Amino acid sequence: MAATPPRPTDTDLIIMGGGPAGCAAALTAASVGMRSVLIEPDTLCRNLHRIPALNNVLGGYTNGPDLADSIAADLKRRDLCRIEIGRRATEIRTFDDHVVVTLDTRTRLTAPYAVLATGVGPLQPQDVPWITAPPDLILAPLWQAEPDDAEDRTLLILGGDRPIGTFLRAHEDTNTQLIVAYPTDDDYKVEEIVDDPRVTLLPVAHLTLRLSEGPVVTAETVGREGQRDIVSADAVFLSIGSAPTAPPGDLVRDVAGYCPPSDQHPRVIVAGDLRSAQFQRIMTAMGSGSEAALHAYYAMRRQ
Ligand SMILES: Cc1cc2nc3c(=O)[nH]c(=O)nc-3n(C[C@H](O)[C@H](O)[C@H](O)COP(=O)(O)OP(=O)(O)OC[C@H]3O[C@@H](n4cnc5c(N)ncnc54)[C@H](O)[C@@H]3O)c2cc1C
Repeated sequence: MAATPPRPTDTDLIIMGGGPAGCAAALTAASVGMRSVLIEPDTLCRNLHRIPALNNVLGGYTNGPDLADSIAADLKRRDLCRIEIGRRATEIRTFDDHVVVTLDTRTRLTAPYAVLATGVGPLQPQDVPWITAPPDLILAPLWQAEPDDAEDRTLLILGGDRPIGTFLRAHEDTNTQLIVAYPTDDDYKVEEIVDDPRVTLLPVAHLTLRLSEGPVVTAETVGREGQRDIVSADAVFLSIGSAPTAPPGDLVRDVAGYCPPSDQHPRVIVAGDLRSAQFQRIMTAMGSGSEAALHAYYAMRRQ
């Protein structure tokens, strides 16, 4: 009996996410002659643009934007990689011999394998029990604050996650005042900012956010001993941590929403920060992205 011919597909590898993991997957795929389509809703390596100082990446890079520009330039030289900027993967479906990825344009792409490298995104107020906020409210994380947001202003920060220290070091010369409202779970995290004179720590049991038309943000707080207070600020930013951002579809997620690579369908290879809360670094993301592309390459050669 004649063998079944391989199913025609749009490309050899669909890569979801254009961070360090997805870009490394695309570069490695091109280096072994595989075609790929890389889908990224924002810009390539958008998160690296927010890292003002780097000291743990090989190659002499001392800040995120230089590394991001260099990665983007590398990728744009690879004809085998088609980069779809401004597009988001909205669904992933797996089959015995191929994967289908739907984009926000409703376009459907098929390939023998897909790399999923959509990383993590900021948790929103609705995701944590200690904040009450309007249901549709989306706030920016503190690490996305621009210099103008910081100068001579008072910012209310929801949560005491570590990026606050990074923000203060990046804006050493501004006299921004940060009111940091944080739950018990973040007590140990605020230790690194406790001595900064620009920081007012506000340990809370609960916080209700009131956003008005005007420039001022108001919050009603309930302290750990039950005392009630009202704070106001010029703007509000998040520092309550991150959560995995995998699209819906045929994926296996753990209780926290991460996608452990070993639990997935054999045609979906997870890379970068989306794998687990551990190992979230630029170089581990690149290594896992590169390995994901080679995984697909060797699997295709075995078929
Ligand atoms: C403030 C800050 C400072 C940091 N400092 C350091 C440091 O000094 N050193 C270090 O090693 N690491 C640092 N990190 C961690 C490092 O940035 C991450 O480990 C790394 O970026 C992870 O790469 P990734 O490709 O897995 O994910 P990401 O960089 O998060 O990239 C994922 C990409 O997927 C895209 N995406 C999301 N959803 C979809 C979708 N549905 N479809 C398609 N694409 C999608 C996103 O737009 C994003 O561009 C820092 C992180 C932050 C936030």
